[in-house]
Amino acid sequence: MNAKLKDEWSQRHRYCHEIPEPMELDEARFVLTAHAEHGVECVQFISALAYAEVRA
Ligand SMILES: [Zn+2]
Repeated sequence: MNAKLKDEWSQRHRYCHEIPEPMELDEARFVLTAHAEHGVECVQFISALAYAEVRA
């Protein structure tokens, strides 16, 4: 996975309280890792979980 893409994702998902746009599985996995320790108040994590599970 290239670094430029990861930079874009880091920017796009930097705020825990923002609801993200629909995303692909790779992006969802990235967000799940980045926000893993944030708990149930992290909207980014919950959203990424939903997008990851839809395709599981
Ligand atoms: Zn978070």
